[in-house]
Amino acid sequence: MGWRLLVHPFNSQQDLTIMGLIVQKFGGTSVGSVERIQAVAQRVKQTVEQGNTVVVVVSAMGKTTDTLVQLAQEVSSNPCRREMDMLLSTGEQVSISLLSMALQELGQPAISLTGVQVGIVTEPEHTRARILDIATDRLERHLQEGKVVVVAGFQGTSNTADLEVTTLGRGGSDTSAVALAAALRAEKCEIYTDVAGVLTTDPRLVPEAQLMDEITCEEMLELASLGANVLHPRAVEIARNYGVQMVVRSSWTDEPGTRVVSTRTQPEVLKDLELSRPVDAVHCDRTQAKVALLHVADRPGVAAGLFGELAHQRLDVDLIVQSIHEGNSNDIAFTVAQGCCNLAAAVATAFGSMLPQPEQFGATPEVLVEPQVAKVSIVGAGIIGRPQIAAQMFQTLGDLGINLQMISTSEVNVSCTIAASECDRATAALCEVFGVTQSSTSFKDSTLASDHQIPSVRGVALDLAQAQLAIRNVSDRPGMAAYIFQALAKQNISVDMIIQSQRSRPVAGMITRDIAFTVAAMDLAVAQALLQEVSAQLGCGEVTSNSAIAKVSIVGIGMLGQPGVAAHMFAALAQQQINIQMIATSEIRVSCVVAETEGVTALQPSMLPLGWGNGWINVQPHSLQ
Ligand code: ADP
Ligand code: ASP
Ligand code: MG
Repeated sequence: MGWRLLVHPFNSQQDLTIMGLIVQKFGGTSVGSVERIQAVAQRVKQTVEQGNTVVVVVSAMGKTTDTLVQLAQEVSSNPCRREMDMLLSTGEQVSISLLSMALQELGQPAISLTGVQVGIVTEPEHTRARILDIATDRLERHLQEGKVVVVAGFQGTSNTADLEVTTLGRGGSDTSAVALAAALRAEKCEIYTDVAGVLTTDPRLVPEAQLMDEITCEEMLELASLGANVLHPRAVEIARNYGVQMVVRSSWTDEPGTRVVSTRTQPEVLKDLELSRPVDAVHCDRTQAKVALLHVADRPGVAAGLFGELAHQRLDVDLIVQSIHEGNSNDIAFTVAQGCCNLAAAVATAFGSMLPQPEQFGATPEVLVEPQVAKVSIVGAGIIGRPQIAAQMFQTLGDLGINLQMISTSEVNVSCTIAASECDRATAALCEVFGVTQSSTSFKDSTLASDHQIPSVRGVALDLAQAQLAIRNVSDRPGMAAYIFQALAKQNISVDMIIQSQRSRPVAGMITRDIAFTVAAMDLAVAQALLQEVSAQLGCGEVTSNSAIAKVSIVGIGMLGQPGVAAHMFAALAQQQINIQMIATSEIRVSCVVAETEGVTALQPSMLPLGWGNGWINVQPHSLQ
């Protein structure tokens, strides 16, 4: 047998380490039929024969979970979340027992265990529980007996006296596997699935997608949270936080697949596994300038033209936001380093003057410049699925009386631009609230960013399960964003791509702006009703929604310090005649909202790293007339 126990007499956290321990996770398609379960059993047995100790995590067979969800909906239009957990957890119970039997048939001792039997302890949040702790003693006992332990993915047991069955959220078996690997200090966690690994985009939508040898956890986290469902984002979060070596491979071949690289080492204490500090760092950059181009035509090619011109001038743009359009015109705002402010403003002015005439679009394009702004950001994988974190950031700044000028969020990053003079107060308060020390470093300073081998864009993700909401005429004063997003957070509604418009409108003597954002389509009705209440309370304007949207995003650490990456994306969209409805960026991603019907076209190969560096796709402003 491949296991050995190592005893570290001075370190109680590391009493038991099993050498050669591998956690292998097989997804739904991989265990979708009896034949496939038998093939999985063969692979597991081979791994044992190679001298390893194996813990296997499996999903429910094929589309079982979808079928169970459908059954519930036939019985109830709003099924109780506790009963949903009870129902959905049965799927994995079928596959663990069958796989265990298939292993035994091959002469390989095996035992199946449910989440409760293992002791995967979670918070008592039905349908979206986070893992707190994993008891490893029973697992280790069975491993020492020479058995393969087959664990039900996606489920756990609450940390309450009633030991309720909980599930981790759809796609959560990946999270079970990586959490087990962290708790058992496994050598690696292998995620076996129905594609060759992580590709530059979803190969089912774009057959030309390319397989990657490796990807950093940071990039994978963005891709996964932006719709690349090959991995559950929370699985990547755990791998990153606990230094788990993870690989995504095909169930059907022996190809090596994609390594998801974590640079961290395992912390000594694995307590509150998924509830550790949600925010890792507070960054502040006081050397930025803001340029906004207002009243530009709402049609394909405008962003491409503007950012193409900026890229030709080698201007490195940091944040970019474009909020929802107003009538038939849009506003686009971006930040650059202060030293580049004049040149960027000149480019924007020249570009604006070449755009279509005012009579068609209501007003002349106008450039606003603020030569000194600060960008404060909170960064952390734990922001995913915790809407209260962004709300808390806005609240903290609002309480200090600091007005937010631009807001741009991703699931792992919330950035706001504020007056440069407020930078120190803002940073100190945010560090205190989130319990972190300020770090001036960001991706920009990391060695990865300066590695020119890294492609500027690692992958492209599409999310068709989002809807857009906007609240018009929000008065432009501190605390407004906090109020709105606190209300949504209280209902546990996660928001992404929060964008505040640059155009201001006076209403009853007050300056007002629009705030738009995206939510999961399934949260739209509740979010919209809530927003209507909030709008009435705050005296804001109309609440608008659009569920026919697609969010397409490019991700890559290599885009740092590389002018023109966003421009290339916008140009690729313009070339397909796709109009961009919203834009938001973080340091390593650019996301655009487009019409739902254009989502798949937006992923086309011109967006992929493969075609990059072959020259710019130029969109000249005069072609827009
Ligand atoms: P499993 O049941 O094995 O967990 P999933 O369906 O959850 O499988 O995830 C695998 C699927 O993820 C693939 O079939 C593919 O369609 C989709 N996918 C989306 N984006 C990507 C990507 N960038 N790379 C690979 N697969 C992707
Ligand atoms: N069976 C669950 C689902 O379909 C968990 C998983 O497969 O990861 O969401
Ligand atoms: Mg999956």
